[in-house]
Amino acid sequence: MDQQTLVLIKPDGLKKSLTGNVLTRLSETKLEIIGARMVRVTRELAEEHYKELKDKPFFEELIKYIMGEYHKKKVMALVYWGDNAIDKVREICGTTNPEEADSVSIRGAYGRITTAGVYENVIHASANDSDAEREIKLWFTPEEIIFDIYPTKEEEKCAVRRVWA
Ligand code: UDP
Ligand code: MG
Repeated sequence: MDQQTLVLIKPDGLKKSLTGNVLTRLSETKLEIIGARMVRVTRELAEEHYKELKDKPFFEELIKYIMGEYHKKKVMALVYWGDNAIDKVREICGTTNPEEADSVSIRGAYGRITTAGVYENVIHASANDSDAEREIKLWFTPEEIIFDIYPTKEEEKCAVRRVWA
């Protein structure tokens, strides 16, 4: 079954110049990239993305981590699409805890646990269909994705926007 999934190369991955590596590993899946952008993560976006974890003791550290406070202030967001995309990508990522992750997985190979106890595990990947939908809609507008994966509607836009000077 064709699915879409959100992938984030987290700030530690960018700081360690792992982008090429991660994309090469993910290309083993033969999935298609249908959206990609570099993002400066605001606190609002970070807290919304991880809202299900807001009661966890590591939440504040996690928010700082994904905002790039400890590495580079950027994240690469991608949408992968194709057959069984969610499981295929999660498999290559490895489990959440980098010390328990298979050593050939991305997290097993490149992740670490900080002294504050946060898993700096290089990559995020959606866990299921409903997470994927919520997350993709949070990180991308319909226009930033190659084709419509979810229903869209037209809206009159009259806001001020930044253009090239
Ligand atoms: N995380 C952590 N400690 C934990 C659990 C999670 O630092 O005990 C961080 C880790 O960076 C993880 C993110 O919080 O990737 C989101 O957690 P989740 O349980 O959703 O794991 P994931 O879906 O990323 O495997
Ligand atoms: Mg998760």
